[in-house]
Amino acid sequence: MTIRTRLALQFLLLASLILGGAFMVVYALSAAYREEEFISRLKDRGTNTAKLLIQVDEVDEQLLARIEGDNPVRLPEEVIRIFDHHNKQIFKLGIAQGDSVPPGILDQVRLEGDQRLEIGERELVAFPFTDRYDRFVVEASGRDIYGRSKLRNEGRVMIATFLIGLVLIFLVGRFYAQRALSPVQRLINEIRAISGVSLALRVQAGNEQDELAQLARSFNELLDRLEKTFLSQKNFIANASHEMRTPLTSISGQLEVLMLKARTPEEYSTALRSVLDDMHALNRLADRLLLMAQAGSKAPVASFVPVRIDEVLWQSRAEVQRTGSAHTVDIDLGKVEDEADLLVLGNENLLRSLLTNLFENACKYSDDHKAMVSLHATATEVEVVVTDKGIGIAPQDHERVFEPFYRANNTGGAKGHGIGLSLARRIAELHGGRITLSSAEGAGSRFVAHLPKAA
Ligand code: ADP
Repeated sequence: MTIRTRLALQFLLLASLILGGAFMVVYALSAAYREEEFISRLKDRGTNTAKLLIQVDEVDEQLLARIEGDNPVRLPEEVIRIFDHHNKQIFKLGIAQGDSVPPGILDQVRLEGDQRLEIGERELVAFPFTDRYDRFVVEASGRDIYGRSKLRNEGRVMIATFLIGLVLIFLVGRFYAQRALSPVQRLINEIRAISGVSLALRVQAGNEQDELAQLARSFNELLDRLEKTFLSQKNFIANASHEMRTPLTSISGQLEVLMLKARTPEEYSTALRSVLDDMHALNRLADRLLLMAQAGSKAPVASFVPVRIDEVLWQSRAEVQRTGSAHTVDIDLGKVEDEADLLVLGNENLLRSLLTNLFENACKYSDDHKAMVSLHATATEVEVVVTDKGIGIAPQDHERVFEPFYRANNTGGAKGHGIGLSLARRIAELHGGRITLSSAEGAGSRFVAHLPKAA
């Protein structure tokens, strides 16, 4: 069911409850008023008749029956009976059509006062009438034909008005719901036009401040983020294949040249060593891409365990010194001795890759190929500070060096693919930490990996 129909139905339900309730109250009040009025007329008729009979000496039963028989104010099917203190009927006007009055009613009137009864469609009132000599009971009854038919008519008018009202309310409700929801329909149509290939499209948000405009704006913001992610993924794939193609082209080129003619064993061995270097580079690139994918998903977080960061420092140092024979990494553990200050909740492989990348860069981009590493602990974090006295990074590149495949133009002949720092940042963020950088061209760089301590 559409929201439009649902709103209209809810509106209808509410309105019908209010309207129906109001009509029922009006009807009940009218019915009570009719009854009250008829009873009071019956009582007046009974009282007048009793007065004439009992208090006017000249009037006897026959005369009264004759006077009253022709009285134009007589009520329809009116019957008036008067009883003396022995409950003996002393006067009767009109014919009671087989309606039996409960026998004890006269005594009840004498004890409790006025009594009312409804016998079929007839209404009856019995009340005491006292004069100087006797205590009479007057019983007046009749049929309120006009009052009841008026009430029935009122009831019919109310039901008809109620039903017509319901139809009108439903139609008006639907119309208003449609009008209120038409911007939503427009939004739906605009959103339907957007797909993976037309992510640049945006929905009209307008300048309004209402909820729909806010929804449209939030949707546009979501599209902005999606488009950015889409684009960076596209670029990432293009860059990754470019980086892989370079060593592959070099390998096939070297092998083709090698096969042009017979070579000496030395020439073969030199060429094969160069091919092997390219293969190693390719391998490392593949490893890093794999780690990037791993660090990009939240999956490793589930298997995080407490890791001693000092042990990882030593492992990374060994790895960097093995791959670059000229590279040195000086580690200063400083005053951090407490084991609790050394524990980080994380994945050892990923943390090793983070530190290795920072160490390797410090060695790679400095003439002395030396990385100075120190460890600090704050109340909540372990900080690994990696400093070098190398070429430094220009301020405008401070953010960009963390983008995948970005290489600043300070690299000279240093080999690389531009994914080490972006990988390091992703790993730090996956561990709930961050990497900060301070550097100036020619003055060296200082990278700090802030990692939260295992609680
Ligand atoms: P790669 O070293 O493979 O090029 P990275 O992502 O590790 O890729 O680094 C990105 C860029 O940041 C490098 O190309 C280099 O320009 C710059 N950079 C990183 N570390 C340093 C450093 N310690 N000193 C100077 N420049 C650096």
